[in-house]
Amino acid sequence: MTHVFHRSARATPPVAVRGEGAYIIDKAGKYYLDGSGGAAVSCLGHSDADVIDAISRQAGDLAFAHTGFFTSEPAERLADRLIEHAPEGLDKVYFVSGGSEAVEAALKMARQYFVETGAPERHRFIARRQSYHGNTLGALGTGGNAWRRAPFQPLMVETSHIAPCYAYRGQEDGEDLVDYGRRMADELEAELQRVGPETVIGFIAEPVVGATMGAVPAVPGYFKRIREICDRYGILLILDEVMCGMGRTGTLFACEQDGVVPDIVTIAKGLGAGYQPIGATLCTAEIHDAFAAGSGFFQHGHTYIGHPIATAAADVVVTKLTDGGLAHRSADMGERLGAALSEAFGQHPSVGDIRGRGMFRGLEIVADRDTKDPFDPSEGIHRRIKAAAFEAGLICYPMGGTIDGSRGDHVLLAPPFILTEDQLGELVDKLDAAL
Ligand code: PMP
Repeated sequence: MTHVFHRSARATPPVAVRGEGAYIIDKAGKYYLDGSGGAAVSCLGHSDADVIDAISRQAGDLAFAHTGFFTSEPAERLADRLIEHAPEGLDKVYFVSGGSEAVEAALKMARQYFVETGAPERHRFIARRQSYHGNTLGALGTGGNAWRRAPFQPLMVETSHIAPCYAYRGQEDGEDLVDYGRRMADELEAELQRVGPETVIGFIAEPVVGATMGAVPAVPGYFKRIREICDRYGILLILDEVMCGMGRTGTLFACEQDGVVPDIVTIAKGLGAGYQPIGATLCTAEIHDAFAAGSGFFQHGHTYIGHPIATAAADVVVTKLTDGGLAHRSADMGERLGAALSEAFGQHPSVGDIRGRGMFRGLEIVADRDTKDPFDPSEGIHRRIKAAAFEAGLICYPMGGTIDGSRGDHVLLAPPFILTEDQLGELVDKLDAAL
């Protein structure tokens, strides 16, 4: 009997009691290899002594000071560190407590920016189908994940959706990848013409699509073209790096590899590495200065923003990712993971595509490799893979609805960057058994 309202209203999961490096251990003493970092959270693994030490020191010095009155040393330090390593042009950091909050702050910041600058007629967003931006109403309103949106329609944030950049299924026979990317980016142009560009606040997208598609990067040139289109019409480019940011794809910010600088970028998950709930919304000086010159006040905020313990922990995380070389390790180990997956599953009858960057990899599960036909959704393939892997002691992140929100299955992998060669082998073996 439990009084916790669990995610599944029908089942109580095992009780997790300890974390050790790449493993989570339950109350019965069973070890689970964390092959997905929960959901791309645990980039440092589960028992990082430096983060634990920073948390206990900060808790002793100062646990909480409301940002309506104070700033704090760890929050200032972390913001400096993030901006030092962020793509040039990003200048300010608005702290929150998680991914949905970071997106919510981004949407409101973008909207209020146009109110501050005298363009309140800009009121809608354009996003992509099969995207996930979080579960709060605004984030859900822009996300393109059909089944998650369904119970809450009509959603309050006016958003229209274009196709994702998804070469495995979208590229036409004989079409060059760059041409495909251009064709997909031009969907934004067409949608702007359809709704009227002067009504649009911004375009929001994940540089590498995570939960809803399984580590699908855009093709070369796609985001550069998207940036050009945003600039042409003065709309903001908002990149959601809640899942793919913080070294997950091998660079601190995923968009570095696409060669674009967004106006706003959201991060969370790997920023706290699971040690404290934290997220952040980074923006350009231009956006921030419009608030300073205008009303002077971003009409947003939560009690725990810029929490001293959370920012102290995240400061150690970001230091380890950058100066400590762990983002590079994500790139290196990620190459090895990609190669091991190709070797193990390149000929697997049910694996249609293997993709991703760094320690962010996805397998698309198909019923037929030649036709790329997915399994019938009633077979619940992703749920069965998740259960079989969990039984074998592997945490991975399978999801359904890969293709159009209702069909198709994939498995997302996002292990800690500290994964050893042996653990990499264990991950692939256990996944093989589950598949
Ligand atoms: N954006 C993206 C891209 C995500 O993957 C997620 C979480 N899966 C969120 C936003 C929401 O983050 P959170 O669950 O921390 O609210």
